[in-house]
Amino acid sequence: MHLILLGAPGSGKGTQARRLEEAYGIVHISTGDMLREASGDGSELGGLIEDRLRHGHLVPDAQVSALVAERLARGDLDHGFALDGYPRTLQQVDDFEKLIQALGRSLDAALNIAVPDEIVIERLSSRRIDPETGRIYNLALEDDPPPEVAGRLSRRNDDGPGIIRQRLETYHAETKPLIQHYRRTGQLVEVDGARPPSEVFAAIQEGLEAAVQSR
Ligand code: AMP
Repeated sequence: MHLILLGAPGSGKGTQARRLEEAYGIVHISTGDMLREASGDGSELGGLIEDRLRHGHLVPDAQVSALVAERLARGDLDHGFALDGYPRTLQQVDDFEKLIQALGRSLDAALNIAVPDEIVIERLSSRRIDPETGRIYNLALEDDPPPEVAGRLSRRNDDGPGIIRQRLETYHAETKPLIQHYRRTGQLVEVDGARPPSEVFAAIQEGLEAAVQSR
């Protein structure tokens, strides 16, 4: 299964992509994670990426598409992939269509996890990450993490209030138009993301089954 995950920052793309990975054996590929890894590695490109991430701006299309091309060329995608955070602009949609064609594969669905802005702001403000496991905790929603984990939780550099607004603005200007694009191609599966993660996941599974059957 080959999926892309659309949705605002904080809509739950990462959480749901991890569940999809477990359930279907598909590989979770997050461009955000790849870029955070590449940022500040001492190279010129690393410096550019760090600057874009710090300000909540997108990394230029050519650089991101090149990273994704490299990642997709690795031979570990037998069961498919869930691309979390790519494509994010209409130019990246074009790049991605060429990439997936060159691999002889095709996109099964573009999953949009819809969440209102107010909830995004609330969620990102209380989001913390366990740097050891990558697990995401939402301090406003969940039970307290175990004490040994609580001590090491950290906030993502771009989850500060000013940057959250910028990331949302970028999302509305650059990424939201992709929803209309995939609606037109008939590949869009939309779910309401303003619910607990397990309910969102059940809706995703239902939506994906319906999409696959209608082919
Ligand atoms: P995320 O973890 O998906 O929220 O991404 C974090 C940051 O990485 C974004 O705010 C962008 O600066 C950058 N980023 C991630 N994916 C892309 C992409 N497909 N195109 C451009 N920039 C991206």
